[in-house]
Amino acid sequence: MTITETQLHRYSRQVVMPEIDEDGQQALLSSRVTILGAGGLGSPVIANLAAAGVGKLIICDDDRVDLSNLNRQFIYQEVNVGQPKTQAAKQFIQGINSDVTIELRYETMSEESLTEILSRCDILLDCSDQFSTRIAGAKAAFINGIPHIFGGAVRFDGQMASFMAGVEGYEDSACFACLFSEDAGVRQAPNCAQAGILAPVTSLIGTLQALETIKWITKAGTLNSNRLLLFDGLSGSFTSIQTSKKDKCSICSN
Ligand SMILES: [Zn+2]
Repeated sequence: MTITETQLHRYSRQVVMPEIDEDGQQALLSSRVTILGAGGLGSPVIANLAAAGVGKLIICDDDRVDLSNLNRQFIYQEVNVGQPKTQAAKQFIQGINSDVTIELRYETMSEESLTEILSRCDILLDCSDQFSTRIAGAKAAFINGIPHIFGGAVRFDGQMASFMAGVEGYEDSACFACLFSEDAGVRQAPNCAQAGILAPVTSLIGTLQALETIKWITKAGTLNSNRLLLFDGLSGSFTSIQTSKKDKCSICSN
C-alpha cells in the first residue's frame, strides 16, 4: 500500500514522529482491529482508532443507543437514540475518516463467532461489560494468537491490561482468565447501571486501550503486558501491579 499525498497531510502529526513514520502509518492503514462492545470504552476506542487511520474496524455490539448512554458515549447523538450502536458508530466513523472500512456485527458474540472474526484480525479490544463475552473474547484471541487489550471501568475506577497469552514471543504472558477466573466471583461485579460511571474514567481507559493498539500495530514502545494498570479517579492515582500466568488456567494452560 502506498500512502497518498492527502493521507500524508491528514496523518502528518503522527507520521512526523520517528516511532510512527510512514511505515507505521502504512501498518495502521493495513491493520484490522476488532472492537468488542461499542459503549463507554468502545466509544473513545472507535474515535481514536478511526481518526488514527486504522484500515478496518470490526465493531461487535448487540445493544441500541439509550438516552442514559449519552453522558459518556460521545460518538452518539440524540438522533441516534433507539438505533443499533453498530449503525450509529458507522455513521460517526464515516463522518471523520473515509479511509476506514467498517464491518458491523449487531449480535451477541460467542466464542465461535469471535474465533472466526479474529482469524482475520490483528488485535482484539475488549470493551465489553459482560463477563461471559470477555471470556469468549479471551479464548478467541488466545486461539488466534493475537493480543487481547482489556479495559474495564465502573464508578470512579478503571483498569487496563494487554493480555498477550498465545502471542508469538510472549509465551510467559497471562491471559484474562489467569487474573479473572470464572469461579472468582467476578460475575457478580457491579455494572454501570447499578453502580454508576463517569465519562472521564471510561474516556481515559478507552484511550489507553487505543494507545496500546496503535503501539502494537506500529511497533512503537512497549505494551502494558504482564501488568494490570489500575486507576483510582477519586484520588487521581495510577497503580500498576504485576500479573503472572496461572498454573491451571481454563484458557491458556495446555
Ligand atoms: Zn490464562
